[in-house]
Amino acid sequence: MKAIVIDKFGGPEVLLQREVATPKIGPGEVLIRLLAAGVNRFDVTTRRGEIPYAAVSFPHVPGVEGAGTVAEVGSGVTAFQIGDRVVPVLTISRGVCRHNPCYCQLGWDNICRDFDKLGLTSWGTYAEYVKASEHNVVHLPRSLSFTDAATSMVATATAWELAISRAHLRQGETALVNAVGGAVGSAAVQIARLAGARVIASAGSHNKLELARQLGADEVINYKCQDLETEVLNLTDGRGVDVVIE
Ligand SMILES: [Zn+2]
Repeated sequence: MKAIVIDKFGGPEVLLQREVATPKIGPGEVLIRLLAAGVNRFDVTTRRGEIPYAAVSFPHVPGVEGAGTVAEVGSGVTAFQIGDRVVPVLTISRGVCRHNPCYCQLGWDNICRDFDKLGLTSWGTYAEYVKASEHNVVHLPRSLSFTDAATSMVATATAWELAISRAHLRQGETALVNAVGGAVGSAAVQIARLAGARVIASAGSHNKLELARQLGADEVINYKCQDLETEVLNLTDGRGVDVVIE
């Protein structure tokens, strides 16, 4: 298969396209033909070697985000069939954990201390194919395009964890979403709005704030020309916000 490979850490020049062996799947695994891949900050820090928590062995295929269709299923796979629209999940759960206590006991596999990560500890999505355990693959609804899915999985899950799982944002509350121009901020505005919250968004440029309004922000603050704290207090009658997401 064709893939973007790195043989050493460095700048963008270490990313090389070449033919590599297509991953071979084992029992319980799924081979995904990728139709879209995101470019995530993880990919940049991996390429630079700024990843203290994960060992990369070369040659390595980066890429933590992608979407595609199932090309092959291993023995014992029950949840997927060839042709299914799917997304591989960044965190690769082993189903067992060597640590106790650990966050995975709370259902937070994404911060398990005993994790593998797609595109970090295994080959990622800068390729025609990627393999994953069926437990780390989710079905993609028809309403979501491959490109939207590939660029939103990590950011949307992060925003959900911040706003809903951790902050328990609820209808009637007010949320301040800082750095709204980024992927997590864009997702957080939409999730907060859908949760029924009043959303105040901040960013340093008019274009980012305009996008935030289109995504559902009720109020916007340009912190380059407005004082964030003063504006937030003005917009909330001096009360402040219930949740800050940044
Ligand atoms: Zn764990």
